[in-house]
Amino acid sequence: MKIYSWKELIWALVFVYLPILIIGSLLNCLTQLLLASFFIHIIWHYYYLKKLNDWLWNSKSTVLPEGQSEWEHAFMGIHNMQQRHRKRRNDLASVIRRFRAGSEALPDAVVVFHKQGDIIWCNRLAQVQLGFKWPDDSGENITNLIRNPLFVRYLQSNNYDQPLDLISPNNPEKTLEFRVMPYAKHQRILIVRDVTTYRQLDEMRRSFVANVSHELRTPLTVLQGYIEILETQVPPDSKQAKAITVLEQQTGRMCSLVEQLMTLSKIESGPNIDLDGSVNVPALLAQIESEALTLGRKKALHIQFNVTKDLHLRGDQMQLRSAMANLIYNAINYTPEKGAIKVIWRRCEEGAYFCVMDNGDGIAPEHILHLTERFYRVDGSRSRNTGGSGLGLSIVKRALMHYDSQLNIESNLGEGSQFSFVISKNYFVD
Ligand code: ADP
Repeated sequence: MKIYSWKELIWALVFVYLPILIIGSLLNCLTQLLLASFFIHIIWHYYYLKKLNDWLWNSKSTVLPEGQSEWEHAFMGIHNMQQRHRKRRNDLASVIRRFRAGSEALPDAVVVFHKQGDIIWCNRLAQVQLGFKWPDDSGENITNLIRNPLFVRYLQSNNYDQPLDLISPNNPEKTLEFRVMPYAKHQRILIVRDVTTYRQLDEMRRSFVANVSHELRTPLTVLQGYIEILETQVPPDSKQAKAITVLEQQTGRMCSLVEQLMTLSKIESGPNIDLDGSVNVPALLAQIESEALTLGRKKALHIQFNVTKDLHLRGDQMQLRSAMANLIYNAINYTPEKGAIKVIWRRCEEGAYFCVMDNGDGIAPEHILHLTERFYRVDGSRSRNTGGSGLGLSIVKRALMHYDSQLNIESNLGEGSQFSFVISKNYFVD
């Protein structure tokens, strides 16, 4: 591309004015000739300036006016700039077209809005599921269209880690999941998904498990009672006595599985913890400690509890007990004879810290992510020997979710494991 330099400009001036200077000097009319040529030069410039202004402000044509010399060069520059802008605009338009086509293809409602709530764009499903009207609702504040106070609070919280479930504004039979994500600069994207079937199935699963485990409890208790009676009636060391011992062990396992299933469904279906209740955690840990010492004695385990005496929490005793006891009993079950277990309950910067450490079998890294899944067991036969069902850690995870906390697991195979969690200061008893 040609660049108009100072040197070229000076040469252009010399080219125009040198002949005038020579002719003016020869004819002795230098001043008049110079004035006349300045005048003509200025008129020439004004002519092209007007042409440019007319084109910029009045003309609808995209074709540039023709120019000469410096003006031709300036017009070419404008033409180049125009081309670049057009290309950039086309590129941007195609990105937006692609984004919109992608959003239309999604099975979810999508709404893009400013941080303050003004709607920028929504797809067709947003119009169907949320009753938005497009383009009439463009620029409207999203909280004027979705007025549910829970949604308004969710939006203002600026914490979108968890989605929000709400009844559909158009159909009370439907449950919608609202998920907000930060998007571009100062913008948000709202994705709304119909989760009615999923929630119904989940509810069915929960009530099925809760009902079945509840119904199983009575016959199991009856069975246990009869086994205890039979035990007293057969001679020890007889074949029948051995069979009865196996029966007793297996019904014991079934009872503990049913208990765990019931605890899990109670924790899962329970609403968020009752913040009015207060739990004396040191007393709770003292109870668990005495049970743990009894259990650990059989394996000659060295169990040490390090508990801060006045660290109490708000909430539900059953849930906290489930979380803490499961971790401690696991440590006892999966630590070989003469092993060491340490339990800590103390204050930390974020709140209260609970930790169970053992120098037992440890867990291979590939299992750690799956440990809190229901019925997940690292080694089925080993767990069966300990009476494990694979539900303990999912109970812990669920109970901690009510405290907005999560379970941290660190473990090295053959060296031991450390299970810990932190409960925020929000749950402290004032
Ligand atoms: P289970 O009832 O089988 O103990 P959990 O959900 O409590 O089920 O634990 C899941 C699996 O995690 C267990 O089967 C066990 O293999 C492993 N595990 C849990 N705690 C420990 C521990 N302290 N040391 C080693 N392995 C553990």
